[in-house]
Amino acid sequence: MPGWGRGRGWGKGRGWARRGGWRRIGVIGRRVYRRVPKVDEEKCVGCGMCAKECPMGAIEILNKKAKINPNLCVGCGRCVNVCPKNAIGFK
Ligand code: SF4
Ligand code: SF4
Repeated sequence: MPGWGRGRGWGKGRGWARRGGWRRIGVIGRRVYRRVPKVDEEKCVGCGMCAKECPMGAIEILNKKAKINPNLCVGCGRCVNVCPKNAIGFK
């Protein structure tokens, strides 16, 4: 496909996009962004419910606190909705 440069165009090398990432992003002008939620470590009790709910496996529990891998997160917000302590949010 001339003009696309790398193999099958944008799909190549953009795993998160092929897993549905493009549906989870927003566009402001020419800037494309993904919202990655933040964990409030003071509220988090390490229950792991967010990690179970995350479809991307982007959350792990380290030292009884949830850690989000921003490279895997697609910003779906499922972890925000499931947390019983309201410790995750888009702030
Ligand atoms: S669901 Fe909430 S309290 Fe439980 S580990 Fe995740 S962020 Fe922490
Ligand atoms: S927003 Fe979605 S993909 Fe990102 S950490 Fe939460 S559940 Fe996982």
